[in-house]
Amino acid sequence: MSNAPERKEFASTGQLRQVMGQYFSDLAKGPEQGKKTAWCTSVGPVELLRAMDFNVYFPENHSAMLGAAKMAADLIPLANAQGFSPDICSYLTSDIGSYLKGVTPLQKMGMTGPPKPDVLVFNTNQCRDVKDWFQWYARQMDVPCVGIHTPRSIGSIDGTLVANIAEQTEALIEPLEQVAGAKFDIDRLRETVRLSKQLTVLWKQVLETAANRPSPLTFFDSTIHMGPAVVLRGDAAALPYYETLLAELQQRVADGVAAIEGERMRIYWDGMPFWGKLRDMSAQFLQMRACVVASTYCNSWIFEDLDPAEPFLSMARACSNIFICRSDDRKEDYIARMVEQFQVDGILYHDSKTCPNNSNNRYGMPQRLRDRLGVPFLIINGDQNDLRLFSEEQTRTNLQAFAEQLVEV
Ligand code: SF4
Repeated sequence: MSNAPERKEFASTGQLRQVMGQYFSDLAKGPEQGKKTAWCTSVGPVELLRAMDFNVYFPENHSAMLGAAKMAADLIPLANAQGFSPDICSYLTSDIGSYLKGVTPLQKMGMTGPPKPDVLVFNTNQCRDVKDWFQWYARQMDVPCVGIHTPRSIGSIDGTLVANIAEQTEALIEPLEQVAGAKFDIDRLRETVRLSKQLTVLWKQVLETAANRPSPLTFFDSTIHMGPAVVLRGDAAALPYYETLLAELQQRVADGVAAIEGERMRIYWDGMPFWGKLRDMSAQFLQMRACVVASTYCNSWIFEDLDPAEPFLSMARACSNIFICRSDDRKEDYIARMVEQFQVDGILYHDSKTCPNNSNNRYGMPQRLRDRLGVPFLIINGDQNDLRLFSEEQTRTNLQAFAEQLVEV
């Protein structure tokens, strides 16, 4: 359609590139500077690793890059040949495929590949796949793999659960000290938790600007701008960037500038992004003048429970309170709050073939929320990385029909 509004870029995008570029450059230089490298899951105990001066790398971030670069479908079969089913996490299979083939988007950034790990650290709060994934590398490279086992489908986060997770986190200190060859310092941990909290508060404020009507921000913007909130928790480097982005968004709100001019409908996105199709989907939402104002995914890096006064307990609380490991009734209450806060007209569920952990449509939740809130929903099938599991035409048609339904409501 020729009358589609233009996508609005952010002036702060240059600063975002700088921050991410610096992160990857530091990551590459870390081992030369004598730093030990820890690979960490996206909601793993990164504050502890930073406090112990590890060079911290996140394989899931790398997997998302493989998805966005449309490299995943060629790499997944290599992991399948190692015995990893095509039905399990395509982040895992594309990342392992990338390792086996020796190709990575990091090469475009002047790196030969991810820095070799000295230790791998997981938290199963998001899924079991991360542990299997890290253990494979541990066997390949003969390095230790340690982690935290968080239960799934958590109802109330009580003292017993928090104490258990905090204890498991403290138990990591000794093996990590052995790898780092340095002593743990509680004051450094307090400082990284403080920085992490500052980052998370800024990221939350950024996302909350989308509650304004019209929204100055879409989900498609946020999936790009969230990079530092994922990889630089516990580090001061990303704070000035989020201050700039927040100020830019607040200015947009004050000036009535919409991310999508003529915003006609507001949508909540549940589930994973389609990394290889972000640009195309963003264009279709622009055409439909539909703004995705909030998402489970981007909100997953908000850790309000962090508190430097009680670092272990608060890290335990924060990492057990993420959407993905909560029970369905808690998830429903959460989405209901989001629908109200962001004035949502419709909910879109991505049913990801290889990530059941982040697909919330399979046990009746869309229907229950529709009945409770009177908000229509659409389920789209696909995958975060494996584009062979995504039908572009069908999705396009379904989205169009959903948009028409929302306009009529
Ligand atoms: S949450 Fe989903 S996408 Fe992420 S690592 Fe687990 S299975 Fe993979």
